[in-house]
Amino acid sequence: MAEQQGMQATRSLCDQLQITAEELQTRLAFLSFGEQDGRNLVEIRDVICSRVDEIIGEFYDHLLQFEELRGILSDRKLVERLKGSQRQYLLSLGQLGDYVEYAEARLRIGLTHERVGLKQKWYLGAYHKLFELILQRLAVRYSGDACRLSSLILTLNKILMLDEILVVETYYHATTQRQEDSLCQLKDAHRQLEGLSRRDSLTPVNNRRALMEALALEFHRSRRYRHPFALLFLDVDHFKEINDRHGHSFGDQVLLHVVQLARGMIRPPDIIGRYGGEEFVIGLVECDQAGALQIAERIRLKIAQDQFAWEHHATAVTVSIGVVMLSPEIDQVETLITRADQAMYYAKRRGRNRVELYNEECASEGQPR
Ligand code: GH3
Ligand code: MG
Ligand code: MG
Repeated sequence: MAEQQGMQATRSLCDQLQITAEELQTRLAFLSFGEQDGRNLVEIRDVICSRVDEIIGEFYDHLLQFEELRGILSDRKLVERLKGSQRQYLLSLGQLGDYVEYAEARLRIGLTHERVGLKQKWYLGAYHKLFELILQRLAVRYSGDACRLSSLILTLNKILMLDEILVVETYYHATTQRQEDSLCQLKDAHRQLEGLSRRDSLTPVNNRRALMEALALEFHRSRRYRHPFALLFLDVDHFKEINDRHGHSFGDQVLLHVVQLARGMIRPPDIIGRYGGEEFVIGLVECDQAGALQIAERIRLKIAQDQFAWEHHATAVTVSIGVVMLSPEIDQVETLITRADQAMYYAKRRGRNRVELYNEECASEGQPR
């Protein structure tokens, strides 16, 4: 998201709002802006130049009569800055040499005001005040020439209207930009939450819900393309005893240890998750029977090889693992899990700390769970 914001910041406002030179020409044509207006602008600017400080002074005196604006304009430095950009604004009014550059500068001024918290109603209203202040000066200079004066007033109205339209666009753009940013933040938060809710509360692997979702996806994919897929059901042996002897916290550490070792033996596309208490399920993607048995045996051996020690307690840890291969008659991932579970129980009955591949015998002896 920061990257996206950065990119927005480097793009010009005209670019973001898709305002091109042609677009501005069309806008001016729509306001019936002609050659006479161009000539009038030279005279208008001349009047403004001679009275610019006076206009700005009166303009701010007017603004400061309103409490809400006094709140925004209480910072002297900010007011000085705003007065500076207003000066620039007035002195360059209607200097349309480079259309895009002109619009960009106008849009930037609008954005500055939006950012200091000036509401659109004030900003647009202030245009009327500005119009009035300039008009008063024009009226003094052209008091004897009503025809000339009305032509100048019309031009002034057109050029200010061009800016007012740009202001509306700046404000609208800033609002939608903020909404998009909030949406991005919300999406990030949602992704994080989703990540958390998919993670087991103790170990750094999938919880049961996420495990089942991931397994179902891989199960159906492997079935459709007739690719090999193996499932391992791992259960810590005599875990209740470990808990009873060393405490529940120690038991938790044993689970973390088992997960860490098992995770280290599988590949990134494989799936691992906590099925329940001290039971973990592993899905081996693109793995045939020989490979699955080899991985299961390596996991078993790795866990059984060393004692596990934590805070002055130590114990041997072993696991029993049931292995099952995806076969064409299995049409539900749950069946695969039941069979792996039955194979794991078969390993328990045959002495624990063993790996057993699912077969008919496992099923016939299988105990209900
Ligand atoms: P078996 O070899 O037959 O699997 O025996 P077992 O003792 O491992 O199996 P049993 O099902 O009798 O006991 C499992 C124990 O796991 C009981 C339960 O209190 C414990 N347990 C379940 N979840 C957690 C956990 O998150 N942390 C800890 N420390 N213990 C847990
Ligand atoms: Mg168990
Ligand atoms: Mg157990």
